[in-house]
Amino acid sequence: MNIKAKELSKIYGRGENKVTALDKAEMEIRSGDFISIMGPSGSGKSTLLHLLSGLDHPTSGSLTYDGRELYGMSDRELSVFRRQRIGFIFQQFNLLPVLTAQENIAMPVLLDKKQPDMEYLGELAKLLGISERLTHLPHELSGGQQQRVAIARALIAKPDVIFADEPTGNLDSKSGGEVMEMLRNIREKMGKTLVIITHDIRIARMADRQFAIMDGVVTENTARN
Ligand code: ADP
Ligand code: MG
Repeated sequence: MNIKAKELSKIYGRGENKVTALDKAEMEIRSGDFISIMGPSGSGKSTLLHLLSGLDHPTSGSLTYDGRELYGMSDRELSVFRRQRIGFIFQQFNLLPVLTAQENIAMPVLLDKKQPDMEYLGELAKLLGISERLTHLPHELSGGQQQRVAIARALIAKPDVIFADEPTGNLDSKSGGEVMEMLRNIREKMGKTLVIITHDIRIARMADRQFAIMDGVVTENTARN
């Protein structure tokens, strides 16, 4: 899937309180790309990722997926499109506390009134090392395990692209390293597009294309050699 952002902007507030969180971002994401985006706190990273993934609405600009304008869709169309085509991984995992790991993973498919592919769910759990944890509630899992459940949830509907907003930001370096290793592995094995926000230069360098954001201005810094 080819994703194109053109002059994508987000402005919060007005008058003296006006904040340009994203300033005319231009990005083209091609199928299979592994992209990292780095920037200091408050630079607009989450705003950019939320806009690229249809989680939020821009103030102006355009975002197309294979030529189709995402923000031209109705809210209903957009939420179905997001559930089926886009996976999102949050820094804080965002699991539902009253559901087991397995129920959390299946949720995006159940919301579409479909039955989850249990064989695929089992494969994902195995790949992510959480097969023995599927009946546990989130609070019975470590941070690293919770994030691995969240990764399985992002993959269950077999989306083309995965967006991850500082996925290791709430983890110690060991579990963060494991989570990154799994994301890389999954991306390679399944041929997914991966767009990841990070504070960590080592993670940023794993990506094939590196972007930076500063005060809402996005630039590509991919080393060419
Ligand atoms: P980052 O993820 O890089 O830390 P964000 O995208 O969350 O940055 O925020 C970018 C800027 O937009 C910051 O100045 C932030 O305070 C502002 N901002 C983000 N969300 C809102 C909001 N809902 N209302 C007002 N300002 C916001
Ligand atoms: Mg953020």
